[in-house]
Amino acid sequence: MTRSADAALLPDASFVPTSHRGLTYPFGHVGPEQQRVMTVAEGLRWVRLAVPGPLKHINCWLIDDEDARGPGVALVDTGMNLEATRDDWKALFGENGALSGVRLTRVIGTHFHPDHIGLAGWMCAHHGCPLEMTRGEWLTARMLAADARDAVPDEMLAFWRGAGWDDEAVERGTARGWSGFRRIITALPLGYRRLVDGQVMAIGGRTWRIVTGSGHSPEHACLFDAARGILISGDQVLPRISSNVSLGVTEPEGDPLGEWLDSLAKLKELPADTVVLPGHGDVFTGLHTRLDALTREHRDRLDELAVFIGEAPRRAVDCFGRLFRRAIGPELLGMATGEALAHLRRLEIEGRAVRDVADGVWWYRAA
Ligand SMILES: [Zn+2]
Repeated sequence: MTRSADAALLPDASFVPTSHRGLTYPFGHVGPEQQRVMTVAEGLRWVRLAVPGPLKHINCWLIDDEDARGPGVALVDTGMNLEATRDDWKALFGENGALSGVRLTRVIGTHFHPDHIGLAGWMCAHHGCPLEMTRGEWLTARMLAADARDAVPDEMLAFWRGAGWDDEAVERGTARGWSGFRRIITALPLGYRRLVDGQVMAIGGRTWRIVTGSGHSPEHACLFDAARGILISGDQVLPRISSNVSLGVTEPEGDPLGEWLDSLAKLKELPADTVVLPGHGDVFTGLHTRLDALTREHRDRLDELAVFIGEAPRRAVDCFGRLFRRAIGPELLGMATGEALAHLRRLEIEGRAVRDVADGVWWYRAA
């Protein structure tokens, strides 16, 4: 499930506070300083890049690798296409940088969001290396990047109205314009190498297995090193926040939350003592505890929403207080709407909610 292009302009900021009890942090709450690398395990290094907004940073991972041209490093995720981020990479790869003289063998994108692949095209062009992604993520990125319309399409306006946005919110959304995605990522290469769920691939002297998930993005790739019990999790599981799971205009009849819950269950097949290297936040252990907490919190919110719509029919915008327990300002409205709709849609699919349409506005009531 993809987020709307509007929401895709924002980083993956999620604003649902969740319990992270029971997790341990092998490196404490310490990560690499700006323009530094930190070794996580043999042949595996960590770079942290700033992103605007509440997430503060994204984690990128460097895996020692080798290709036909010789030794190099595979990069997992790239950071956003911001001048400051490009400067950080230039410093890292520059003469006195921690990665001076290092050549990238490939760029692996966990998913299409701009904080993860914003600089993928730039990196691949600079290092003459391929981009590896799942097909779902690749096609979504290319699809969004190819949309060159400037005006917000009528379908999007109808979607906002359906969710209960008032005139002011619709006007603000309209004023932001459309097709921002192509402007906030560097141009992607024409071709890519496809990653497939279950695929086992050699990176350097080690093997990594691709584990896909869905709900935050269509076909998110995690990388699992079974021998050492290390998971590069992207945004599929984060230590402190719940990843954004949104129903969007591109697949309004979809079930992103159902896919997300299935993906959490799938990740639980990995060993409990797996060391998780997340896209945002600190390296942690306690994978099963975390997956259980995320699942329980989504299920609790579904139950709370079921009660809430049992009291009276509600629109998506009416559910924010119940779901997020905080005020939603204009900057979070798109994502909050997507998340509320994902929960309401899930209730519909579970046979617990019915949607009525009145003057283009969607009202959910108990089934
Ligand atoms: Zn992210």
